[in-house]
Amino acid sequence: MPEVWVYAEVTHAGVVDTTALELLTRARSLGADVAAVVLGPGASRAAGTLGDYGASRVYLSDDDVFGDFVAQPATKALDQLVTEHSPEMLMFATNYDSRDIAGRLSAKTGATLMSNATGVSGLDRAQTAISGGSLMVDVVLRGSPKIVLVRPKSFAAEAMGGVAEVINVEARIPDELRQARRRERQEQDAAGPNLEDAGIVIAGGRGLQAPDNFKLLDRLAGLLDDCAVGATRAVVDAGWVPYAYQIGQTGKTVKPGVYIAAGISGATQHLVGMKGAKRIVAINKDGDAPIFEVADLGVVGDAVKVLEQLIEEVKRRKGQT
Ligand SMILES: Cc1cc2nc3c(=O)[nH]c(=O)nc-3n(C[C@H](O)[C@H](O)[C@H](O)COP(=O)(O)OP(=O)(O)OC[C@H]3O[C@@H](n4cnc5c(N)ncnc54)[C@H](O)[C@@H]3O)c2cc1C
Repeated sequence: MPEVWVYAEVTHAGVVDTTALELLTRARSLGADVAAVVLGPGASRAAGTLGDYGASRVYLSDDDVFGDFVAQPATKALDQLVTEHSPEMLMFATNYDSRDIAGRLSAKTGATLMSNATGVSGLDRAQTAISGGSLMVDVVLRGSPKIVLVRPKSFAAEAMGGVAEVINVEARIPDELRQARRRERQEQDAAGPNLEDAGIVIAGGRGLQAPDNFKLLDRLAGLLDDCAVGATRAVVDAGWVPYAYQIGQTGKTVKPGVYIAAGISGATQHLVGMKGAKRIVAINKDGDAPIFEVADLGVVGDAVKVLEQLIEEVKRRKGQT
């Protein structure tokens, strides 16, 4: 039976990145045997979750070398595993480390690599968006193995209650592959939910006019359950908020129940990261702004004033005024 492998990123505490769970859920539907690969401190503790989401086998190593050094050790271990087991397809999420490893593995093995996929419909077929997200194309993948880098939130993660067989990976990493050392690790402080997992996302664009007005988004988010704040690239580039806030083609992909776009024009590069939201509310002073073409509810007006009124109304309904 052909094998599909999912590369999973994990925290030291053994928490699996949700992108790996999304990929496992998709891999289960491809008519193949599904396995996961997880490397670095926390890997053993992740095996249960990976089995729960569909991996029948988990190749793992808790060796510090995978956490201490960037990409090269993981590429080496994966290369050995691929040579030994010949999986048909390897799925990686478009995360920083995974991207790096997938590219190196492709160069090392000569495997076909498709990046920026938003769908995987078979063992030789994946989908991606082109022309700024306005066209979808079906891509036929040749050779073996195929490596596919998939955008986060392309699939919903669903547990199935399985249990995985654990296979320990022997890590023999030579010194020449211990060159790029991770000097420090910083966890971003997050008062609320993760941007990618939040049920409500409030995003701001240049129409907010000044960085200080972003505080209105924080105040509104603080009043709502399961709500996170995002931004367009224009304001990230202007230094108003960190890159971690960016939603879109070169930022994060979000699929919340409600997306509120405040002072955002609706450029295709932004839409590609948020148009999967169930409901889109747009606030823009220009009634012809492209964001209104995807909005379920549009408010034509000054974003700062509308947000202030919205905050007051939510507070009133919560009995906070
Ligand atoms: C290769 C590439 C990749 C890119 N990747 C991304 C990406 O990942 N994410 C992303 O967001 N962009 C991305 N961009 C940039 C994108 O093309 C747009 O430039 C950007 O999304 C615009 O951001 P904005 O809507 O904040 O600003 P603008 O386009 O300047 O829009 C501001 C909007 O605010 C409205 N406005 C002004 N004043 C007010 C007011 N007082 N009240 C209410 N509304 C007001 C205006 O009518 C306007 O519609 C990318 C571009 C390229 C070329």
